[in-house]
Amino acid sequence: MSTSVNPRRTFAIISHPDAGKTTLTEKLLLQGGAIHLAGEVKARGQARRARSDWMKIEQQRGISVTSSVMTFEKEHEGQAITFNLLDTPGHEDFSEDTYRTLTAVDSAIMVIDAAKGIEPQTRKLFEVCRLRSVPIITFVNKVDREGRDPFETLDEVADMLALDVSPQMWPIGMGGLFEGILDFRTGEVARPEGDSKEYLGKREANATIPEQYVEEYELAQAGYPEFDLEAYRNGDLTPVYFGSALKNFGVEELIDAIARYAPPPRPQPAGEQQITPDHDEVTGFIFKVQANMDPMHRDRIAFMRQVSGTFKRGMKLTPSGLGKPIAVHSPILFFAQDREIADTAEPGDIIGIPNHGTLRVGDTLSEKNQIRFTGLPNFAPEILRRVQLRDPTKTKQLRKALDDLSEEGVIQVFYPVIGGSSIVGVVGQLQLEVLISRLEAEYKVEAALEASPFATARWLKGPDAALDDFERFNQGNLARDRDGDLVFMAKSPWDVGYQEEKNPDLKFSATKER
Ligand code: GDP
Repeated sequence: MSTSVNPRRTFAIISHPDAGKTTLTEKLLLQGGAIHLAGEVKARGQARRARSDWMKIEQQRGISVTSSVMTFEKEHEGQAITFNLLDTPGHEDFSEDTYRTLTAVDSAIMVIDAAKGIEPQTRKLFEVCRLRSVPIITFVNKVDREGRDPFETLDEVADMLALDVSPQMWPIGMGGLFEGILDFRTGEVARPEGDSKEYLGKREANATIPEQYVEEYELAQAGYPEFDLEAYRNGDLTPVYFGSALKNFGVEELIDAIARYAPPPRPQPAGEQQITPDHDEVTGFIFKVQANMDPMHRDRIAFMRQVSGTFKRGMKLTPSGLGKPIAVHSPILFFAQDREIADTAEPGDIIGIPNHGTLRVGDTLSEKNQIRFTGLPNFAPEILRRVQLRDPTKTKQLRKALDDLSEEGVIQVFYPVIGGSSIVGVVGQLQLEVLISRLEAEYKVEAALEASPFATARWLKGPDAALDDFERFNQGNLARDRDGDLVFMAKSPWDVGYQEEKNPDLKFSATKER
């Protein structure tokens, strides 16, 4: 009997709304031995919502508030590989969770609309990937439609993101002229078939390609760097695939690229140490907590990215925030197709752990309770609001609630140094709605959110003297976070740049490591 474990590829898709993330996800799941079949990505969410009253807001708005995990398996060169795809909420549900999910993956696929190029949300998510040098494979989608010149797209990626680009495929025409995709690695052309002009498996080894496209692809091969695995894994180079998620072009090649090039589960820093997957105990960290909005059910699901060891159902793990072990009896294992597999999980896998508020974002879980993972950041808020209490006698309850909720990772809270009402910061609008409902439901605090003069925040670091100086002159723009760390409240991104220039001894950081 073989005890060998499938290699893991844990990744996310980063994109701007409408670029085709959902369509591509469906196609990836369909190509692999998916646990959830294509067409079910959205339907699955609805079924889940119908089954439980998991989140009121989720039901009201018909969207999934937090990321989920999808797993599929595919054979690559005789070896079965398990792919864990972590969903990054992207439309109205864009939030700090979207960013945090990127701290739990080993690589990402960046989906770009061939007609639109790099859009704002893609860029933001890319910056988060860059913070941790997450390797990126680029998929230029919708080549079955009229798009920009592929060279323009490649140059935009290279210039805007300061990345080397290495095309791995080339579209033969686009839109009405689309004749297929040439794979540089195999030399084969995938052809559209029938009225739907889909890719149904037809490939030609020695295809005749119209002259103008021959010139084009030869230029593309000669004009850009060759693929370099090390540069890709360091986050310095992105291989670029062209395709159509809708018509199924380039999807096989994309899965093949993840299998072939994307890194296996990485070591995770814990202070000075690096904990590798073969570390001799089960360890992991919580990157997301999903709370039930029903005040009668204070249950939560904490999502743990496993870093090392082989997890078994019922195992006792100690959360760093709690100090005493908890038994993980009913974990949610996302590849629960086969009972036997469902009882264990490996490094790179995600485990959902039901709990009653004991597990917090950033917590380490481990068997021996000796290590603490580091490098799990808070992200600078993009929306800041003043919290106005309706009932001024509830100041204490409000403070407790804001501290709790910020510790849980729902919001960030900032206390202005010269008094006044607390300011909450979030990455996405939905977090504010979650805040207001939870304040009412769980803390019986009625509050309103009002505009604040601030647009973003930066954690301040530097020599004491420089900090003191800065504090003296900028009191009105300073606050402390829940740990008491000094934060510069900026009225605009320009304001940040201006202060950075004026105070070269200080570091204005857009993230804060726990
Ligand atoms: P998401 O918002 O990124 O998840 O994007 P969706 O997957 O929902 O796609 C947005 C729209 O673009 C939908 O109408 C899709 O049918 C369409 N779409 C996605 N991929 C393609 C593609 O490759 N070609 C064309 N023509 N349309 C696509």
